[in-house]
Amino acid sequence: MSEEIKLEPESFKLDHTKVKAPYVRFIDTEKGPNGDIISNYDLRLVQPNEDAIPTGGLHTIEHTIAVLLRERIPGYIDCSPFGCRTGFHLLTWGEHSTENVAKALKEALEFIAYKATWDDVPATDIKSCGNYRDHSLFSAREWCKKILEEGISSDPYVRKAV
Ligand SMILES: [Zn+2]
Repeated sequence: MSEEIKLEPESFKLDHTKVKAPYVRFIDTEKGPNGDIISNYDLRLVQPNEDAIPTGGLHTIEHTIAVLLRERIPGYIDCSPFGCRTGFHLLTWGEHSTENVAKALKEALEFIAYKATWDDVPATDIKSCGNYRDHSLFSAREWCKKILEEGISSDPYVRKAV
């Protein structure tokens, strides 16, 4: 792999006007020196340049899906919000189909939308979070309901809701 490729991540080449959110998109894999594979996925929850989840809701989704996706996706490493607030990067050991990732994401968002109480949101105090005042389970729930109503596609360009 040339350094040129490394300097321009695949995500920066995506045409954000062509995608149809909500979707799960496989971005790329990275291979470590011992042959281990790490996969990177684009979990796009809202349409780029049309919607953006407010920070309180996104922050609460972030804390909550960290636990929910770890329980549902073998080899889960991390799930971090995009700065544009339209979704998350998901990192995993090994490779998973976008269908399986989309199904796990759907279950996680269903839990937040219809079952979660404040006790299900981890790490919301001054010691465990870097901005503990900026959480909203209400906002998280309402945005998860909207995303679920639209359906989560396993393909970024053609709607294939799981
Ligand atoms: Zn936090």
